[in-house]
Amino acid sequence: MKVAKKSAVAAELLPCPFCGGEAESVKVTTNRVVVTGCVRSACMASVISVTEVEGRQKWNLRIGPAQQVVS
Ligand SMILES: [Zn+2]
Repeated sequence: MKVAKKSAVAAELLPCPFCGGEAESVKVTTNRVVVTGCVRSACMASVISVTEVEGRQKWNLRIGPAQQVVS
C-alpha cells in the first residue's frame, strides 16, 4: 500500500481514520488552500489548511497510535 509520490514532504500521511483508505494532499489554487484527506470519494474525510505541511500535521492528528489501524 506504499505508493511513491512525487513530492517529498516531511511527514507521511497516515491512512484515513474512518475508512482506512489512502490520503493525499491536493493544492486548490483557486482558493489558495491545501485539502488533505481521504482519496475515496465515498468517504471525503478531509482537513483544509494554508500549507501542505500544516495539512499533513492536522490530518495525522488522531487518538491512539497509528499502528492500531488494520490494514
Ligand atoms: Zn476515508
